[in-house]
Amino acid sequence: MAKNTLFDGFRAAIADHTRPFIIDGDAVTTYGDMLEQSAQYANALVELGVKPGDRVTVQAAKTVEALIFYLAVIRAGGVYQPLNTAYTMTEVAYFLENAEPTVVITDVSAIDAMQALAAKSGDARVKTLERQHPQSLTDRAIAHRSEFDNVVRNDADLAAILYTSGTTGRSKGAMLTHANLLSNAAALCDIWHFSADDILIHALPIFHTHGLFVATNVVLLSGAALRFFPAYNPDTVLDAMPVSTVLMGVPTFYTRLLASERLNREQVANMRLFISGSAPLLAETHKQFSERTGMAILERYGMTETNMNASNPYEGARKPGTVGFPLPGTRIRVCDPDSGLPLDKGAVGMVEVSGPNVFGGYWRMPEKTREEFRADGFFITGDLGMIDDEGYLVIVGRGKDLIITGGLNVYPKEIESEIDDLDGVLESAVVGVPHADFGEGIVAVVVQSPGSNLNSDAVHGVLAARLAKFKLPKAYYFVDALPRNTMGKVQKNELRNIYADQFNTSGESDTSAPGARG
Ligand code: AMP
Repeated sequence: MAKNTLFDGFRAAIADHTRPFIIDGDAVTTYGDMLEQSAQYANALVELGVKPGDRVTVQAAKTVEALIFYLAVIRAGGVYQPLNTAYTMTEVAYFLENAEPTVVITDVSAIDAMQALAAKSGDARVKTLERQHPQSLTDRAIAHRSEFDNVVRNDADLAAILYTSGTTGRSKGAMLTHANLLSNAAALCDIWHFSADDILIHALPIFHTHGLFVATNVVLLSGAALRFFPAYNPDTVLDAMPVSTVLMGVPTFYTRLLASERLNREQVANMRLFISGSAPLLAETHKQFSERTGMAILERYGMTETNMNASNPYEGARKPGTVGFPLPGTRIRVCDPDSGLPLDKGAVGMVEVSGPNVFGGYWRMPEKTREEFRADGFFITGDLGMIDDEGYLVIVGRGKDLIITGGLNVYPKEIESEIDDLDGVLESAVVGVPHADFGEGIVAVVVQSPGSNLNSDAVHGVLAARLAKFKLPKAYYFVDALPRNTMGKVQKNELRNIYADQFNTSGESDTSAPGARG
């Protein structure tokens, strides 16, 4: 039988067409419905001229239709290309030029602007998934047959292009193959013990690898169900727990759950697993969650380019502050960033990965692709990390966030961990900004716990006793919250911009004292 690697994998996991795939309040989309609706959309895509390998760009609200539509693109042999819903039309223009899609899906509210943009950068057909609109693809799809012969797509064919967030330049399109996605979903189903009995609380966006691939593909490949939420709200997630089994979230999901008095052992009694990823989970959050619920959050590590790489164990210790062990089939090593030579346990260096999960390269950027792979095929993640004495991987931070002050390397995480340990501190972020004498000077941005009243001298006093002098921040700021993106990642670029002129770069700054500012 002709094969479509990813969709065949999902299809093989469907034991019973009447079982729920998506539960959205009282509305249930069964696996049978999913097969029919995705077939109708796939027929509509072919009618629009989508051919194998054509890109289909989607910038649309998180809806049940949008999830089904992702599967239709795969079945039609297209390359799914989701975009963050927060991108402005100026930003979208770049993606359309770069990806040259055949079809662009947008919401009705943006359809005119998208149409104008598409007309400038090619001849993409602009459609919406919303009903009762002249350009509604859903209205069109329901007139189509609910059967579809999946377009043949092999392991190495592209299934999706996901653009990286591009904080260090232009966004790059990570080319993900059918085999990348299927192998990773299979590994995760296995290590996290997913089965058809699971009901996953799905409150993540679906334009990012976490909500789209980790959450959705794992559910599909185990024939489980997902409980659909258009956005995250701690109260609705708490309501869902007694009738669900797994939550996948970013760390802010967990800090916001902890802020609710409703989070307790009774509320989580039906849940078997809480997973966190996409940004570092504070060890303190892990501890508080265990104390309140009796359950240890399972932290895992991955990225757009590689899918998931490492996970704490299902059985065995889930070690706070670590991301666990390599997934089955994935190899992880920590290397000297310059020489590329592997480092010993305990040494901090560049995290490099290889395996069936790792992408093939950046779309139309062969140079960038070459730069980020070693000759032996390992991908240079850009994350700094180390393997601890028990073999757990610890992510220390992004390489570009490394601070070089007076010629010495300082890992922000080391300072952040010390600050976070202080009574009265909720969290912190440490960045390097230009400094006339030192190259970079260290700035600490601190969020206090409600009711506490710290000042920079108090924080500096404690750090001075614990850290070498060159690691000490030269200025402290107290803020209400750290800037974060939708995936819960602290936006260090933004902090570097805010505090860029912090130290007098003409050379007149006082370089010894902590600035009692903010
Ligand atoms: P993205 O491509 O948007 O998924 O971002 C991937 C990046 O998020 C990684 O390269 C890491 O820097 C970070 N990341 C993901 N999971 C974790 C984690 N559990 N701990 C620390 N950083 C993480």
